[in-house]
Amino acid sequence: MIFDRFRLNGQVALVTGGTRGIGLAIAEALGEAGAKIYISGRTRSGAAEDRLAKAGVDCDFVAADMMKDNAADALVAETLSRAGRLDILVNNAGIAIHGDSGEFSDAIWREIMTVNVDAVFRTCRAALAPMRRQGGGVILNIGSISGIVSNIPQNQVAYNTSKAAVHMMTKSLASEVAAENIRVNAIAPGYIETDMSRGGIANPDWFPTWRSMTPMGRVGQPEEVAAAALFLCSAAASYVTGEVLVIDGGYTTR
Ligand code: NDP
Repeated sequence: MIFDRFRLNGQVALVTGGTRGIGLAIAEALGEAGAKIYISGRTRSGAAEDRLAKAGVDCDFVAADMMKDNAADALVAETLSRAGRLDILVNNAGIAIHGDSGEFSDAIWREIMTVNVDAVFRTCRAALAPMRRQGGGVILNIGSISGIVSNIPQNQVAYNTSKAAVHMMTKSLASEVAAENIRVNAIAPGYIETDMSRGGIANPDWFPTWRSMTPMGRVGQPEEVAAAALFLCSAAASYVTGEVLVIDGGYTTR
């Protein structure tokens, strides 16, 4: 049955930033499909673990602050020591900080690049060795429409630059490791209702623009990203690599 290609039974998936928002929804989807799930973040979330347990997901938490230089290596090593293997890596943890370029500090620029770019590369790099040993694996990076268009009205040059880097990292790595049965893809979400976007949704100077520029006239929900993540992480996408899948209610059509 074609539906069986979506099943992940026996596989181990690590979802960074899996304690909330899009990452939590992805963890739930991969877990419902049968994968053993490891979620990471700076702070353990009982609510996340309760939600996953209620959904029947086998889940464990690994603490990791992606601002730290050794976090990616330590996170992958800890997952391997607990699970013994790593089949799926979802690099979802990310931060967004807005501001006008003229006043944007080096420190904030560096913070965004560290979490959104450096940590994504380091975690990909750390996952390659176990995936090679196992004969393959899947990496999914969470980019953004902000890596494709300069969405308005907020100014966010560092965030946009970081997400464009994630997209190119995805394509470059996909090309490099395709022959080793490791697929690397990205999802570029539009506005999705999470803690990250809540302030913007509540902002009367921003949200009307966000909505009017989105042909579907609404923000998306984390589950609408998670369904695509399941596709890309499963054998249903066995011939898909180097793809940046846009999920944005049509935003980038305009
Ligand atoms: P949230 O802010 O809701 O959640 C972010 C997650 O990342 C949390 O689990 C958080 O856990 C973790 N995280 C943040 N900073 C760090 C850090 N330094 N070290 C480790 N973990 C960290 O974000 P979203 O769910 O909205 O976003 C998820 C991804 O999707 C991000 O990459 C974001 O850029 C991208 N995206 C989001 C969009 C949106 O509209 N929401 C649109 C396009 C892309 P903790 O705080 O415990 O560390």
